[in-house]
Amino acid sequence: MATATVTDPPEGVPPVWGEGVWLHPREEDRLESLASYGVLESPTRPALTGVARLAAAVCAAPAAMVCLVDRHNQWFAATHGLSHSLIGTERIDSICSDAVATESTLVLEDASQHPRYAATALVSGAPHIRAYAGVPLIGRDGLPLGTLVALDWTPRAFSSDQVAHLEILADQVIAQLELQRADRASGRASEHVLSDALDARRLRRGIEGGEFVTRFQPIVDMRDGAVIAVETLVRWNHPDLGMVPPALFLPAMERTGLMIPLGRLVLANALDAAVHLGATLGVEGPTMTVNISGTELRSPGLAAVIERELGRRGLSPRALCIEVTESMPLPGSCAVRELERIRDLGVEIALDDFGSGTATLGQVSTLPATAIKIDRELVVGAEESERGRYILLSARDLARDLDLDYCVEGVETLAQRDLLLDAGIVYGQGWLFSTPVDVPPLTAYVADRGTAPRTRRP
Ligand code: C2E
Ligand code: MG
Ligand code: MG
Repeated sequence: MATATVTDPPEGVPPVWGEGVWLHPREEDRLESLASYGVLESPTRPALTGVARLAAAVCAAPAAMVCLVDRHNQWFAATHGLSHSLIGTERIDSICSDAVATESTLVLEDASQHPRYAATALVSGAPHIRAYAGVPLIGRDGLPLGTLVALDWTPRAFSSDQVAHLEILADQVIAQLELQRADRASGRASEHVLSDALDARRLRRGIEGGEFVTRFQPIVDMRDGAVIAVETLVRWNHPDLGMVPPALFLPAMERTGLMIPLGRLVLANALDAAVHLGATLGVEGPTMTVNISGTELRSPGLAAVIERELGRRGLSPRALCIEVTESMPLPGSCAVRELERIRDLGVEIALDDFGSGTATLGQVSTLPATAIKIDRELVVGAEESERGRYILLSARDLARDLDLDYCVEGVETLAQRDLLLDAGIVYGQGWLFSTPVDVPPLTAYVADRGTAPRTRRP
């Protein structure tokens, strides 16, 4: 990664130098304020795309984005006019980080001529930013959370009117984030969803009306970024609430018996994406992984459905891996027999969330698993203490000794990636590489990074 050159601090509130970047003088308070908005739990905010589009329009610029500046990364919460699927960068490559550190609007007519920014990743490489106008997003604690930015690919000036309009739109971004924070703090968002979710008719209407959608997150070889598999994750594209994460509606789906049709929809989307990737890339696409709940396994017939759905699309069983997400019943139960049938088709079976408490050591020996996904908790633990590191290494050794494939989940930082590579764990999934995205950005991502031979899978 390129590094920004240290020059004199940018103008504005005097920043402090630390960890290779300029930091806001109240950096820890600022990070706490940002965390209180809950936006980093899922940094992509489709609801803000409209503001990004307006920002581009008022500046007569080809692109704009809402950028949130976290401790080590900048995340693009919403973008307009950016053709590739970037979701963020390291902070060291972030121009926005300086606008945040100084709480000041930053305008550059040509970033490639600026000693501090010329070598940063998005200036020296794609999308080759030239002109930049970023205004800080000031949260209700009076601390900057990120920026609203207009970008141009050729050098140019921004008028004072254009910058003033950006500042007005920045207030709109904050107003939206504030609404979400208030809902979150009062628990309203989840209550609202839950009251909807308790109604089986509403859920069924949602399924039939196409409100449940899937997003795809690559699992990569962390040594070179090649994609080895792709996890399919369901979301509720709720008309009032935007993208609702699965934790808020899956329990209700299970209770109302709608998990089966929802699971079928997710499986179909995953296999359709496999066909699309294969056709677009001209090679066998990466393995698609699908989460399967206990309810789905307990109702017999899943193996037959999988066989039929693969066959209909001319896909080999190697195109699919199922992730078992729940604590599983005893050996010999119908759920385990169904899993064995699925494995006998040649489909991979991964034990999800290994080490988190829901997936236990016992399950590794009783389930017909072919792979484990090491939970993010073990990665965080390994960063925090030597003891945590031993636990991570023992999960790796267990996988190796049982001849299971393995990967890790929830890799967010370069430091985590390096720690994992040092531990000989090479396959990982997490925001550092990509958040879950729709099929077109996924296709661009896979085309860009390539796929790796499937010697080891998650
Ligand atoms: P999971 O299968 O362990 O999926 C990984 C979760 O971690 C996803 O949350 C993903 O968005 C999130 N994640 C990815 N990278 C990072 C990262 O770097 N940091 C952090 N903190 N989180 C990251 P999501 O999409 O909210 O899904 C939550 C759980 O819901 C899944 O956990 C899975 O158990 C369940 N789920 C999701 N989709 C389905 C589905 O179609 N069917 C079933 N039965 N369960 C599903
Ligand atoms: Mg999973
Ligand atoms: Mg998991």
